[in-house]
Amino acid sequence: MEKIILIKYGELTTKKANRNLFVNKIYENIKESLANYDVKIIKNRVRMFISVKDEQIEEVIDIIKNIFGIHSIVIAYKVNTNIDLIKNSVLEIAKNTCFSTFKVETDRADKSFPINSIEFSKEIGGLILKNISNKKVDVHHPEYLLKIEIRNDYTYIYSKEIKALGGYPLGVAGKGLLMLSGGIDSPVAGYMAMKRGIKIECIYFESPPHTSVAAKNKVKELVSILNKYQPSICLHIINFTELQEAIYKNIDPSYMITIMRRMMYRISEKVLKQRKCLVLINGESVGQVASQTLTSMQVINNVTNLPVIRPVACLDKLEIIDIAKKIGTYETSILPYEDCCTIFLPKHPVINPNLEKAIEYENTFDYQSLIEKAIDNKETVIIDKNYKKIDI
Ligand code: ATP
Ligand code: MG
Repeated sequence: MEKIILIKYGELTTKKANRNLFVNKIYENIKESLANYDVKIIKNRVRMFISVKDEQIEEVIDIIKNIFGIHSIVIAYKVNTNIDLIKNSVLEIAKNTCFSTFKVETDRADKSFPINSIEFSKEIGGLILKNISNKKVDVHHPEYLLKIEIRNDYTYIYSKEIKALGGYPLGVAGKGLLMLSGGIDSPVAGYMAMKRGIKIECIYFESPPHTSVAAKNKVKELVSILNKYQPSICLHIINFTELQEAIYKNIDPSYMITIMRRMMYRISEKVLKQRKCLVLINGESVGQVASQTLTSMQVINNVTNLPVIRPVACLDKLEIIDIAKKIGTYETSILPYEDCCTIFLPKHPVINPNLEKAIEYENTFDYQSLIEKAIDNKETVIIDKNYKKIDI
């Protein structure tokens, strides 16, 4: 009997008109993720099937379970749609499985199959009871739920379903620019945006020598962890030192963070347009720090008309940490390296900044040319499977 990986799509059922687009995107994303494997992928409107050598099945599932848009994955036995063949196969599978109670569920997608789903489940149930001793039917809490999907040419027999991430296929919503610091929140924000189908590029602001190479490597490492969900990610590194020193020199300490973040938004907007991204994504969370009060957000956001997505805006820190642990970024995020937001940190950053005042402070120095310079000097790296882990 041939073993096959069967994929069930996620929320796509609600998106009838776009269905093909969504399915094709999942297909492309799977193909990209499995580029190094000898696989055959077949897609239709409701299912996708991957054939791969038996010994690589687990490995392949480990990769594709991180692909958004997939609801669940099963390892199925594939047999021709023929009543006797299905019966024999089910018996063989059941004999090799350890259980005492069971239930059979049939899904007859091929309506030309002569027996309806309920009748067929009963027939198969009876067959198991008759041929294998000490088995009992339990329709409510079966130890072994045997599923039979009858399709036109083939029938799929399986049991355990591996729950995948759901969401929308990566890239289907377009591209966004993620402001990625080394902290806990922004990688989580990136993951949540990706889950909505947004392909990401990342922008990181560093201030050498005030911030270290280790801090930059930590950000690269975080990007490489996100490669699980997007196999190739572009990271733009912006040297923020001159701007930051100018802010330190010219701006009242209480407004330094506000102005610094306005500069980050301005630079991000320019990079976003260069790279044809559609939205800015960041890890701001309401009330977490002085720069994330609603007034602060308003004054900072005022430099751009772009939509800004803040996926963790309304989550508690503990909820964000839970996701960071689940996606594997937490341990790296908590490594103790400075961020440019934390150097020169004023003792009393303003909690309710005033827009006019912020503009007035800014106009005391020529930030435009410093912004241009920072963008001209931007360094861009692509982080993908060739990324060599750096000790940080
Ligand atoms: P995080 O845990 O993601 O670092 P945070 O709680 O430390 O967030 P802030 O430092 O105020 O919060 O930053 C808010 C958001 O601004 C970050 O989540 C990130 O999206 C962006 N940001 C902050 N510092 C940088 C940086 N050096 N480079 C790029 N983006 C940054
Ligand atoms: Mg931070």
